[in-house]
Amino acid sequence: MSKIKISKIIRSKRKNIALVISVDATLVVRAPMWTPLSYIEKLVEEKFVWIERKMREFEKRPKAERKTFFEGEEFLYLGKKHKLALTSGLKIEITDDFELLFPRVFLWRAKARMHDWYKKQAKEKIGERTKIIASKLNLKYSTLKISNAKTNWGSCGPKNSLNFNWRLIMAPERVVDYVIIHELMHILEKNHSAKFWNKVAAVMPEYKQARKWLRENSKVLTLE
Ligand SMILES: [Zn+2]
Repeated sequence: MSKIKISKIIRSKRKNIALVISVDATLVVRAPMWTPLSYIEKLVEEKFVWIERKMREFEKRPKAERKTFFEGEEFLYLGKKHKLALTSGLKIEITDDFELLFPRVFLWRAKARMHDWYKKQAKEKIGERTKIIASKLNLKYSTLKISNAKTNWGSCGPKNSLNFNWRLIMAPERVVDYVIIHELMHILEKNHSAKFWNKVAAVMPEYKQARKWLRENSKVLTLE
């Protein structure tokens, strides 16, 4: 018996076995239709060290806490934590000393209000930034939209329409830039070939750091 619990085995027409550690740090095995369970268990045992290490890595990743809108609660904006301060005003605003001013009258629909604000900021900031980067690179996109996508950070359609996830506005500026550059490069290359990545690297040599940051922090960039 293997010491690691297999949370799910997904059998399909595939030819080989893949061990996948999910974001919630559980082990999922993808296997060909008729692989005996004993064989899978033996493999899991053999890969024990690797699986354990991966699971620990995932467990260490920061997770989002459910927002309750109390005074001093922290909200991310462009990679910086802003402390919530309730006001008698009528506008959500951020200050230079990392405060998020939040009208008391918004509290009964706080999450919806906050979501709308994030989306508006995303449209403005990501829109501005995309314009600047695109003109520097001499690339033309058709439209720019802010999406509610669950998994994608951005996309570039066949007619070069750009989509960006509103949650990106919580990420640091360099990470936002990376996603913008990534999608703009799809105007030139509609795939993820080596050629595509070379083009991304030519504009942003340290793009891998930004990708890694997104991978590791994706759970924090949320409003729950
Ligand atoms: Zn892409």
